[in-house]
Amino acid sequence: MATVLLAGGAGYIGSHTAVELLNAGYEVVIADNFANSSPESVRRVEQITGKKVTLYELDIKDRAGLSEVFHAHQIDAVIHFAGLKAVGESVEKPIMYYRNNIDTTLSLLEVMQEADVKKIIFSSSATVYGETNPVPYTETMPRGVCTNPYGWTKAMMEQIFEDAARADQALSVILLRYFNPIGAHASGRIGEDPQGIPNNLMPYVTQVAVGKRACLTIYGNDYPTPDGTCTRDYIHVVDLAKGHVKAIQYILQNHCMEIINLGTGQPYSVTEIVDTFEKVNGVKINHVYGARRAGDLPACYANADKALEILGWKTELSLEDMCRDAWNWQKQNPNGYQNA
Ligand code: NAD
Ligand code: UDP
Repeated sequence: MATVLLAGGAGYIGSHTAVELLNAGYEVVIADNFANSSPESVRRVEQITGKKVTLYELDIKDRAGLSEVFHAHQIDAVIHFAGLKAVGESVEKPIMYYRNNIDTTLSLLEVMQEADVKKIIFSSSATVYGETNPVPYTETMPRGVCTNPYGWTKAMMEQIFEDAARADQALSVILLRYFNPIGAHASGRIGEDPQGIPNNLMPYVTQVAVGKRACLTIYGNDYPTPDGTCTRDYIHVVDLAKGHVKAIQYILQNHCMEIINLGTGQPYSVTEIVDTFEKVNGVKINHVYGARRAGDLPACYANADKALEILGWKTELSLEDMCRDAWNWQKQNPNGYQNA
């Protein structure tokens, strides 16, 4: 069976993808510098699957170190998850974001070229659609104007991949544009483990539920949406992980340069998330309505047709599943992987 290198594979989406790849019979190699993760997640991936992962503690920017990984293994395809992803932090530390995110990408492409590895899948984001494209977003729309350096790194990296694929006719690339991944593996053994105060909605909700935060602030209830709060395309991280398995199957069999949305196509509002979380889990989420957060769009959701057409993939899990599994993870791991 083919061997897949997960750059940044110890993180939230990478660890869930590792489980699904191992379950599908692939060999998995992970390289991560644990900038935003812990080797504990990889240990748990092995526990869940009963299979071994080869793990390297490595900064992907370190080309010599990365080259050694490519020499030690016959890598058939790469999934590039490695990156910094906190929108607010990217505004404060743009140079660090450009350096890390762009350099990991260039380093991977250079080392792949040396090692003659020709297949890469990249973790892009719905944020590249920018502010002016109408929802639902389709892959044929132009990239828009991003509202923060994190978004710009994704847009720039997409451009880099497109140019690299144009120049090297043998290189296959799939740019996966994720919408809003939430939830956790049903076992509750792996999940999202943000450092400090969560920026994203679901980890904030689960930390209020577990008593680590006093109150959720809902950012704005005067948007032009049905209940006034923003709508997003929340996708269960296990569905997202399975989308990567389909993308790996596809890229191993086809020469391609594709952009594919991974979303449900179904928007839910912040209020619907809070209400569903409370109902499914039988807990109260103390919340108040506050001011809008700078840079937030009223609505963001996918047209998910292309993923079904090209990859034969669509989501299977519901918002109830997402809320139940997010809570199951948080309850079992109130401090994430810390002290594990
Ligand atoms: P994450 O922070 O949990 O995972 C990213 C991993 O990359 C971490 O384990 C981190 O330690 C590692 N990393 C960062 N820089 C590195 C470097 N220089 N060398 C080696 N490892 C490095 O984030 P995630 O939620 O799993 O996201 C994975 C990818 O998907 C990221 O590129 C992110 O931007 C993208 N993405 C995430 C979301 C989301 O909402 N979670 C949405 C769209 C796109
Ligand atoms: N949100 C909120 N309170 C929070 C965090 C997020 O109301 O503490 C809202 C945010 O305004 C957005 C939605 O939840 O409408 C999803 O935000 P998140 O940061 O998770 O993802 P984004 O879509 O911004 O990438």
